[in-house]
Amino acid sequence: MFKKSLMALTMMLSINVSAQTMADADITVQQAAGDVYMLKGPGGNIGVLATDKGLLLVDDKFAPLAEKIETAMMVVEDKPLKYVVNTHYHGDHTGSNKFFSHKAPIFAHENVRTRLSSKKDHHAESLPVVTYKEGITIHLDNEEVQLTHLPSGHTDGDTYVYFKKANVLHTGDLFFEVGFPYVDLKSGGSVKGYLAAVNHMLENTPDDVIIIPGHGKLTNKKSLIDFAKMIKFSIDKVSQALAAGKSESEVVAAGIGEKYQHLSWAFITEEKWLKTLVADLK
Ligand SMILES: [Zn+2]
Repeated sequence: MFKKSLMALTMMLSINVSAQTMADADITVQQAAGDVYMLKGPGGNIGVLATDKGLLLVDDKFAPLAEKIETAMMVVEDKPLKYVVNTHYHGDHTGSNKFFSHKAPIFAHENVRTRLSSKKDHHAESLPVVTYKEGITIHLDNEEVQLTHLPSGHTDGDTYVYFKKANVLHTGDLFFEVGFPYVDLKSGGSVKGYLAAVNHMLENTPDDVIIIPGHGKLTNKKSLIDFAKMIKFSIDKVSQALAAGKSESEVVAAGIGEKYQHLSWAFITEEKWLKTLVADLK
């Protein structure tokens, strides 16, 4: 009980802090490889392709950060924004859509548009204007930007983005470098689909690919392989427990085990990860 209320208090504090500090938040810029950069700050990681012919933006964090994102992009390359991509519909990846929609067309899987437009307070300008079912390739300068949809992983509208020339992968939230993943079961996500999506990205990118995860630091294929192993381990462990007739509380009490318990973090604790697995696998 104490642990629960302490956790709730911590959650409340961090929400207040993030609302308060949004205006003061810094957006930092780091080169991933070639013409592709990562913009970090509150919310999902942004990918920027910066060329002489213009810019392409992958995800756009929260609305209050829009101008800062634009400034950070212009520092990299002072050229017009040509295209925006949404990796999925969550607000920490699409919050600045309205701002950027006045500058460039937004591309996303069709379910992103459907889910955003079903939000009561949505703005028409925030919606992607180019939608696809399976994927689309955008050519900008001499870069080939491949957008690929994978079914039912983090949500039902996930896209991963591969910059072929630069050899950079933006995973969207199909990779949380910070710890256990968020699988949004209420928005069409699934843990087995999530693992399949991670494996798909591993199989379809070179070994030396540079990775921009949805959350966390710039990384490489080894960490994505470890992430896939952890998800497989989690699915197997919880499936076995459920087959043996264990309840949710017994699965939570047993824990994920020593090897992976350090991957518990503020948003997806070990308990939340285990409960997600039980809810989806039972
Ligand atoms: Zn997300």
